[in-house]
Amino acid sequence: MRIRNLNIQSLKIPFKVNFKHSSADRNKTKSVLVCTETSNGHIGFGEGCPREYVTGESISSCFRFFNQHKNHLISCIHSLSDIENWVLQHEEEIDKLPSAWCAIELSILDALSKELSQSVEKTINAPGLEGRFQYTAVLGDSSAEVIQTQTTQYNKYGFNDFKVKITGDPDIDNEKFNIINSTIPNARIRLDANNLWQNSQDVLKYIGSISTELFAIEEPLQAMDFKELSVLLKSISVPIILDESFCNKHHFDHILTDIRNVIINLRISKMGGILRSRQIAKQATQRQIPLIIGAQVGETSILTRAALTIANEYRENILAQEGAYGTLLLESDITDQPLTFGKYGRLDIARNLGIKEYGFQIKYKLKDYAQHRV
Ligand SMILES: [Mg+2]
Repeated sequence: MRIRNLNIQSLKIPFKVNFKHSSADRNKTKSVLVCTETSNGHIGFGEGCPREYVTGESISSCFRFFNQHKNHLISCIHSLSDIENWVLQHEEEIDKLPSAWCAIELSILDALSKELSQSVEKTINAPGLEGRFQYTAVLGDSSAEVIQTQTTQYNKYGFNDFKVKITGDPDIDNEKFNIINSTIPNARIRLDANNLWQNSQDVLKYIGSISTELFAIEEPLQAMDFKELSVLLKSISVPIILDESFCNKHHFDHILTDIRNVIINLRISKMGGILRSRQIAKQATQRQIPLIIGAQVGETSILTRAALTIANEYRENILAQEGAYGTLLLESDITDQPLTFGKYGRLDIARNLGIKEYGFQIKYKLKDYAQHRV
């Protein structure tokens, strides 16, 4: 493959509803879209979601990374092994700017696979996608009225697995848990604290004061505070999900003595693309650390699709999957056939993807995006 051009643009698609949690409040996407054009006219797309509170990235840091490396990438990337070598050689930089690289890598893999007339899975020697994927309902930090409306909608869809963004105030949060438990008595509930507390005692106090059984709690402590995490893991029976505290393979080093009650939230964008995510999924599975396949709020069908590669290959080690909101949350998607869950929160590959297509098998709205040059 010869890359003729690489482009980046920021992607601001309005949401149909606001989404809020303790670290952010958004009403439109905050993403970058990279487009790879090959000399044979194939076009691939990739998406990255920079998040200050997760990896310290911003839209402008993605543009800087892209502009710094664009010409080198065009001249040196022709195959999968070229991409793999580039990732190895730039590991430290990608650790700092994972979503910037994610957008570039996905777009090149999409274009390369189209050049080779095959799926991205085939290109990276991963198993072909098949079957169904089960998604979790996610409730943001909203008022009790909104939570009631959304829980009722999720109940109609047949969901019984919930992730709830919490405030840390037991009175406010208990009201939400009561709504879920009274609407769906068999609901499995996990919480996302988005780094609310400084110390383990406050986490334990909160858990002792809430009125629901917990499947797990995500990021109760400050991001990357592995010392306090170790203290908490010794005294808590509820599993801890690491999200902001687990962004690359070096973070295994901090948790290896305490893996018994740890779950990793794997998101393609924060881990720096599919190839690095796949390595983390492999190592986690070898170490018997379960995974949740996470998503970015407001991601388009590109990142939803990219996550399926990992969710499909490591199905046996995955406790839950998030995302696939597509145009349930966004005013529009990059495709007219968005990847969204349906009844019971399921996404069926045979029904949702053009499996005879190549690359990520998404039919993009090219006129809206490919001709927009930056
Ligand atoms: Mg999270």
